[in-house]
Amino acid sequence: MATHTRYTGLIEHYRDRLPVSDSTRIISLGEGNTPLIELHNIPKLIGKNVKIYIKYEGLNPTGSFKDRGMSMAVTKAVEDGSQAIICASTGNTSAAAAAYAVRAGIRAFVLIPEGKIAQGKLAQTLMYGAEIIQIRGNFDEGMSLVKQVIDHAPVTIVNSINPFRIEGQKTAAFEIVDELGRAPDFHCLPVGNAGNITAYWKGYSEYAKETNGIAAVSSNTPVMCGYQAAGAAPFTAGKMIDNPETIATAIRIGHPQSWDLAWNVQKESGGWFDSFSDEKILAAQKMLSAYEGIFCEPASATSLAGALNDIATGKIPEGSTIVCTLTGNGLKDPDTAIQQCTETHPVSVDASLDAVKKAILDNM
Ligand SMILES: *Cc1c(COP(=O)(O)O)cnc(C)c1O
Repeated sequence: MATHTRYTGLIEHYRDRLPVSDSTRIISLGEGNTPLIELHNIPKLIGKNVKIYIKYEGLNPTGSFKDRGMSMAVTKAVEDGSQAIICASTGNTSAAAAAYAVRAGIRAFVLIPEGKIAQGKLAQTLMYGAEIIQIRGNFDEGMSLVKQVIDHAPVTIVNSINPFRIEGQKTAAFEIVDELGRAPDFHCLPVGNAGNITAYWKGYSEYAKETNGIAAVSSNTPVMCGYQAAGAAPFTAGKMIDNPETIATAIRIGHPQSWDLAWNVQKESGGWFDSFSDEKILAAQKMLSAYEGIFCEPASATSLAGALNDIATGKIPEGSTIVCTLTGNGLKDPDTAIQQCTETHPVSVDASLDAVKKAILDNM
């Protein structure tokens, strides 16, 4: 008879590689174990011999990769006796913090930039019952305030400067190597605060050290490619930016918190940073939906926009295996999605068989 093990989240799954003990109470919503989907239509469309895989992080419990880090960070906060967590957020961190705080039975305070967070993220954070503090300012200002206020209130910070966030998020790299049997040649992802690119590199590096010389791995670590939105691109500018602007609100960040760590990833992996216009980012988002049936939020599509650009220029050569992380679910930002589809807006017809038949036959 076939046996199966119930999947109960990434901490249980990678317990021996994470900072937990037998007595740790694990705060989980079943995060991780997300699909690695090979693109079939886009490589044909661009006429290149490349294998592109999507790591679909939008299928985590609150719809973004932030759940990986939050499971670990809230687990450790609770273990340390904390009664409340706090974060600054462009939306997804606040949704994850709020959900895991509820699960743990502690409180969550979240600072968000007023009017600049996507509707889905706001809806989630409201429903989970977090204490939402909207600030008349951007993410970077919120982050600065959170770092100051932790000296004045008994709250644990759960932004990605919390090292346990990085520990949880590194498991995405483990999953990819476990599934492919090796690391990809290139790993592409959107960069905001650069916690995630740091976490993936940590995960790949830890696995590579163990398998080096033992398992038959042809390639132990990937080249890491970090992509930003042109209006919020401190890494390509080589300096912090004061008024970041992009439709990809999840990466509307001018003062990345993991600045030095990300430059280190770039050096160690032989990778690079680049940036793309909002138009290119939205085109990649639309392409994923229209050609592959994969819906992600705008920021996430930056990884594919970058990969396609670097494949076209040959910087990523033919024959490569590429993984693009799609950081968040498309349902997070319905407004931007609907605005993009005005040319193909739904047809309206009378509620009659003739009208419906005509609408179909005219479009065959
Ligand atoms: C948080 C986030 C990012 C950026 O990740 P960093 O670790 O800050 O670089 C990208 N996309 C989405 C959807 C996010 O929520």
